[in-house]
Amino acid sequence: MSGTAQGPRLRPSLAGIPGYKAGKPAGADAFKLSSNENPYEPLPGVLEAAVAAAGSFNRYPDAGVTELTEELAKRFGVPAEHVALGTGSVTVAQSLVLATAGPDDEVMFAWRSFEAYPIITQIAGATPVAVPLTAGEEHDLDAMLAAITPRTRLIFVCNPNNPTGVAIRRPELERFLDAVPSDVLVVVDEAYREFLRDEQVPDGIDLYRDRANVCVLRTFSKAYGLAGLRVGFAIAHEPVAEALRKVSLPFGVSQLAQDAAVASLRAEDALLVRVQALVEERERVSAGLVEQGWTVVDSQANFVWLRLGERTGDFAAAAAAAGVVVRPFAGEGVRVTIGETEANDIFLSVAQAFRAEL
Ligand code: PMP
Repeated sequence: MSGTAQGPRLRPSLAGIPGYKAGKPAGADAFKLSSNENPYEPLPGVLEAAVAAAGSFNRYPDAGVTELTEELAKRFGVPAEHVALGTGSVTVAQSLVLATAGPDDEVMFAWRSFEAYPIITQIAGATPVAVPLTAGEEHDLDAMLAAITPRTRLIFVCNPNNPTGVAIRRPELERFLDAVPSDVLVVVDEAYREFLRDEQVPDGIDLYRDRANVCVLRTFSKAYGLAGLRVGFAIAHEPVAEALRKVSLPFGVSQLAQDAAVASLRAEDALLVRVQALVEERERVSAGLVEQGWTVVDSQANFVWLRLGERTGDFAAAAAAAGVVVRPFAGEGVRVTIGETEANDIFLSVAQAFRAEL
């Protein structure tokens, strides 16, 4: 026994990993516009499916997530073997990194983008390569191509991007995909796909079909309103999908989540009406901001982005004081989820008052 008590040795690389900052919860008297959630309560059919599944949680879930996999395969016209599910798309993203990259390898993404990318990269022991967005808040695809090295294993392309909402159109994205070496996996993260209205933005599932190194990430957390149940998926060619299944721990997706997701797909018409209402609110909020004199980029997601620089913290505080909790990125800007009309109106009035002070 050693004389000096020492704690267990942890991997030194963990010290450099930032913690994931979840959107701040809102108190009872505030609206939460900080996590890009769907503000609507579950649809009755979806809730019933979840409640029914809750009656058997003494059992493990179907490890193969069979019914949901088959529904998704049918819906997207892909082989069931190409569908890989996980506990939220963030977990599937992590599995993609674990399947492709380790120490000495690089994982690339635009920055700022989804904040989990650098975290899951470092958990795998790989090196994050963050390529700054352009001044117009777009992916700098040329700079990303130039940053590819023999060590690059995976590239995340978040389309539309979180937290800016900007989407990449077909010619630019296709040119990029065609220039990436075929042994580098490109993950098109389409967490916000359902909120897209720009018809020039391609569907990642069309892009993946004849490109073995492209896969698509989707989630039930946003448009489908199942954030709390944790279910997301990748659509990938068989070697990648198979590797994903290998690195995923068994029984991740609960039966409750599986059944609710299947019910959501079946209730899609009603869900998409809600999505359309949110899109209309996004357009109303964006137009309101422009009218107030803000420069806003075209968001194709369920949030808007205000680049506030040093005023970011002040804005977030003013919003919280008025009853809406937004997501600040210190020194950069705030991301504000499109929520209930009342919440959006409060945000607009905060923005107006703030504008008047600038
Ligand atoms: N990708 C992007 C771009 C996101 O913004 C998020 C959620 N913030 C996720 C993936 C993960 O979502 P989930 O794990 O709930 O599917």
